[in-house]
Amino acid sequence: MNIILFGPPGAGKGTQAKLIQETYKIPQLSTGDIFRTSIKNQTPLGKKVKSIMDAGELVSDQVVVELVAEELKKDEYNNGYILDGFPRTVEQAKAYDVLLNQMNEKLKAFIVLQVPEKELVNRILSRGEGRADDTEEAIIRRLEVYHRETSPVQEHYSRQGAVHMINGLGTIEEIFVRIQAVLAK
Ligand code: AMP
Repeated sequence: MNIILFGPPGAGKGTQAKLIQETYKIPQLSTGDIFRTSIKNQTPLGKKVKSIMDAGELVSDQVVVELVAEELKKDEYNNGYILDGFPRTVEQAKAYDVLLNQMNEKLKAFIVLQVPEKELVNRILSRGEGRADDTEEAIIRRLEVYHRETSPVQEHYSRQGAVHMINGLGTIEEIFVRIQAVLAK
């Protein structure tokens, strides 16, 4: 079961991905988490992406697609996975379509967590994860980038008929119940 969790920064993708991971026993693949770990471990990839991430900009499509293509070769993803934070541009979505085809696999659902704009900044600031890109300036930039580069990805998947809209307001559990209803279909 391959799932894409989609939505703006602060929508709760990471939180819901962890619940799906526990309940359905399929791993979460978060490109943002991989980059943060690379930065922490000061790997060449981490050094390459740090300033881009801190500014709230997007890492290049080529770097991200290569990373995901390599990651998905691992056995742990054989029974499916949850993509969190990828694809984030239409280019990435097209590259992922090709990857799925090559692996002879299909997308189960493209789940959009809908949260009103004014709620997002508050959520990010109050979650207090201490991320380097959780400054007000970087958050505003991440939201701009989301609207310009990332939201068109939803249109790409609408054409494939895979999109499910989820109300992202409510408790973590309430939102998870809505996601489970989609996955039961
Ligand atoms: P996230 O944890 O998903 O909010 O990602 C944090 C940051 O990592 C983003 O603001 C980007 O700088 C970078 N990043 C994560 N995933 C991607 C992606 N698919 N494409 C480009 N940049 C990404």
